[in-house]
Amino acid sequence: MRTRRTTLSLHGLCALVLAGCSSAPAPQSTPTPATAAAQPNRQWKPEDTEYYTPVPPIVTPGENGSPPSDAIVLLGKGGLDEWVLSKDGSPATWPVTDGVATVDKKVGGIKTKRSFTNYQLHIEWRIPEGITGSGQARGNSGVFLASTGPGDMGYELQVLDSYNNKTYVNGQAASIYKQTPPLVNAMRPPGQWQVYDVIWTAPTFNADGSLKTPAYVTALHNNVLVQNHFQLRGHTPYIGLPKYTAHGPAPIMLQAHGDPSPPISFRNIWIRPLNQ
Ligand code: MG
Repeated sequence: MRTRRTTLSLHGLCALVLAGCSSAPAPQSTPTPATAAAQPNRQWKPEDTEYYTPVPPIVTPGENGSPPSDAIVLLGKGGLDEWVLSKDGSPATWPVTDGVATVDKKVGGIKTKRSFTNYQLHIEWRIPEGITGSGQARGNSGVFLASTGPGDMGYELQVLDSYNNKTYVNGQAASIYKQTPPLVNAMRPPGQWQVYDVIWTAPTFNADGSLKTPAYVTALHNNVLVQNHFQLRGHTPYIGLPKYTAHGPAPIMLQAHGDPSPPISFRNIWIRPLNQ
C-alpha cells in the first residue's frame, strides 16, 4: 500500500508561510492537458499538480435546516422584509406567522427586493392539509428563478400538489414549467413541508441581445434529484413556446396562482449568490 505524502512543496510553503517569497509563485490552477502536451518529456512530481491559493472561504454549515453562515436569509423570523409585491413594488403583505408566509391570492405574487444572477437557493413550502381541486387547480404556485418582466415572465420551477394529482407531467411539481418534468415525483402528502434546493445558472446575452449561454438548473425535491443540469429553452410561458429575451440580474418571485384552492405556505428561504 502506498503511503500518502505529507511533505509540503517549496511553493506550498512559500504560499502558506512566506507571503512574498522570492521564488516562483505558487501555481493558481491545476496544469491543463495543454500544459502537459507542451512539455512531453517533463518528469512530473506530485507537487507539480498541487496548489495552495486562493484558499476557499470557510462556511459553517447549518444544522437541522438552518442556513449556512454565508447565506442571505430571504424568509426567516424577520418575515417578508426582503420582499415586495410583484405588481407594484409595495411592501409584501402576505400574512406571516412564526416565519411562515402564506400566499394572499388577492394581492398577487411577491418578489425579492434584491436581484440575483447565479445562486444556490433553499426554499420550503407546504400544501395545506385538506387541499381541494385537481390538476393545475390544486395548490398551484411557483418559484420564478428569475422574474424578468411583468406577470409570470421568467423561469418557473413549478409548485403544485403532485401527491396523487394527475396533470400534464411538464406541469407537475418540480417541473420546469412546460419544458421538462421532474426526473421523479418526490412529493410528500399535503400538510407536510416540501423542500427545494436549487442551483441556478443564469443565461447570458451578447451586446446585441442575442443569447450567449443558456440557463441551467439543477434541483432537489426533498433531497431527491429532480432536475440535473437541465438546459432551459427560454422562459416558461403558459401559452406558446419558450424563448429568451435579454435580461440582467433579476429578482426571485413566488407565484400567487389564481386557482380557487386554499393558499399554500412558504418558510425558511435562503440564498447563496455564486460568482463562478
Ligand atoms: Mg405555477
